[in-house]
Amino acid sequence: MKKVIVLGGGISGVFASIRIKEKHPDYFVSVFEHNDKLLKKIYATGNGKCNFANKGSLNNKYNHEEFALKIINQFNCNDIVNYFEKIGIKSKSIGDLLYPYSESAETVANHLLDRIKQLNIDVHLQCEVKDYQNGHLLTDRGEFTYDALIISLGGKSSPNLGSNGSFYDSLIKHGYAIRECHPSLCPIKTKENTKMVEGLRHKVNVQLYQGNKLLHEEDGELLFKKDGLSGMVIFNMTHYINRLDNRNNITLHVDFAKGIDGDYESLVNPKLAKYLISNKLDIHNVIFTFKDFYEYSNSQVTSGGISISELNDDLSSKREKNVYFIGEVVDIDAICGGYNIMWALASAELVSKKI
Ligand SMILES: Cc1cc2nc3c(=O)[nH]c(=O)nc-3n(C[C@H](O)[C@H](O)[C@H](O)COP(=O)(O)OP(=O)(O)OC[C@H]3O[C@@H](n4cnc5c(N)ncnc54)[C@H](O)[C@@H]3O)c2cc1C
Repeated sequence: MKKVIVLGGGISGVFASIRIKEKHPDYFVSVFEHNDKLLKKIYATGNGKCNFANKGSLNNKYNHEEFALKIINQFNCNDIVNYFEKIGIKSKSIGDLLYPYSESAETVANHLLDRIKQLNIDVHLQCEVKDYQNGHLLTDRGEFTYDALIISLGGKSSPNLGSNGSFYDSLIKHGYAIRECHPSLCPIKTKENTKMVEGLRHKVNVQLYQGNKLLHEEDGELLFKKDGLSGMVIFNMTHYINRLDNRNNITLHVDFAKGIDGDYESLVNPKLAKYLISNKLDIHNVIFTFKDFYEYSNSQVTSGGISISELNDDLSSKREKNVYFIGEVVDIDAICGGYNIMWALASAELVSKKI
């Protein structure tokens, strides 16, 4: 009997183990997870609603777009919706964003956990994965053997939910090139003082520049922090900042009243009007200078990870036989909108077909 070990019980690891067992009932499939439950992160996704996919265009949403889309196109949004429907998760779309019909992430978690039980997948919780070597997995609960190993240990973001990058050192020892990690989909710190408007939200247009080069433009909601900016539009900007080779001379140009003229007091919240006027700022072009990302504890996704140059098209390792990488541990990440879970599911599906 072929033994498959999956490292990490997040959405990519759980989905891979389910799909492998569905395709190969004769395989012995085990999942190792250091949390006390599987899928801990999923409950927190999409503000508790789990935005698991996106039916809109996938253009310019992922870094390493060509690599990511080749895999996602093999298990796309419709495939995810159909599979979820088959196991009892009805979907609903809000714009292009897909959610469980219940708008509760728990629905997604419960149905996937039911599949884990129905398929008799062998689950090891509160088990820290330490290393692996020639078919032997080393954990703090002893040694286990495998014929194939799937590494789905996530990145470093939101370590309170389990993924803390604790395994990267091991992977480096195995010789893997890891693209430098940074928090992504997180607030940013700015050089400008924003304390006066802390907590204020506003619909804005944001243009991201490096020097004179416009990198990205988007409309959305901005939230002022005491030392910088947050909100979904800013989260998305961090993805595009992370694509750059360096962080020099990055500015965000914010228009608080796109296409509308008038007194500042009549266009925005009085507190914001006071901030703009007292700092002699142009309501249509307030420039914020990027200083840094917020910490991993405030980030939804990690930019960086196992370099795609280490992987074959089927996500097997070029370096080690019978070793595969899926989900966020790979140097693939995207903006907000369900794209990151789509990658986790599509990469898991591909490996389940190839293993
Ligand atoms: C607050 C929040 C909201 C989000 N909302 C969305 C959303 O709505 N839509 C979307 O597409 N994406 C969203 N994301 C991103 C998305 O959740 C992740 O990209 C995705 O869950 C990654 O799945 P994964 O299985 O690759 O990694 P993870 O979910 O991080 O799973 C990795 C697992 O490995 C375990 N692990 C790590 N190291 C070890 C070790 N040494 N030993 C044992 N176990 C270990 C971890 O505990 C974890 O359970 C959100 C993320 C956060 C934090």
